[in-house]
Amino acid sequence: MTTIMIVEDEQAISVLLKYNLEKAGYKTVCVAHGNRVLSAVEKHLPALILLDWMLPEISGLELCKLIRNNPELKNIPIIMLTAKGQEEDKVNGLSAGADDYVTKPFSVPELLARIKTNLRRVSTTTAPIKKEYSFMDIRINMVEKKVFRNDVYVQIGPTEFRILKLLISNPRQVFSREDLLKEVWGNNVYVEPRTIDVHIRRLRKALNDYGPDYIRTIRSTGYSIDDKESLAQ
Ligand code: CA
Repeated sequence: MTTIMIVEDEQAISVLLKYNLEKAGYKTVCVAHGNRVLSAVEKHLPALILLDWMLPEISGLELCKLIRNNPELKNIPIIMLTAKGQEEDKVNGLSAGADDYVTKPFSVPELLARIKTNLRRVSTTTAPIKKEYSFMDIRINMVEKKVFRNDVYVQIGPTEFRILKLLISNPRQVFSREDLLKEVWGNNVYVEPRTIDVHIRRLRKALNDYGPDYIRTIRSTGYSIDDKESLAQ
């Protein structure tokens, strides 16, 4: 079932949206607090987000930017809901990365039509978000954010998880430290390239208790995951 996340602090609107979306066959997740949105999106991986502009704690506009800067979440379509109808707000919303923009009070059939259009567009332009990745005996579950080796649960930190996910979803591809910085930490974040080596070391340590080391260090280039010994090592 397709999950749609409703981010809205006005309960009456949230209830109205939930009722109509569920009637239309969608599963819904409602979030009323701006500061809970990112973790809820990571947890539920919705197919689309309806995002209210005016939220307590953090604005819809800021959230939109945060979601777009997160490599895991950036492809999820976002429809901004707003009481503001001015042209410049629309431009701000779209330039922050929203895919569409609906002004309150909105008509439910129109909103449903917009949702459908945005879902269709994303399903033809990007691959669906995978729920699981694996390489040899290593398996990662994207829903539970858990790693397993030979079905044994391996405890790793969130950064190590993101690095592993990137490597495992692109097996044998070599990533430079700069690639990893961009893909794992996102743009506009300053991290020392050497920090990556620390996280790679932690990742290896966690994984290698349970099986051979598949993480390859390609000297002066970067890292990859590979079951064959690299000649460049
Ligand atoms: Ca609001």
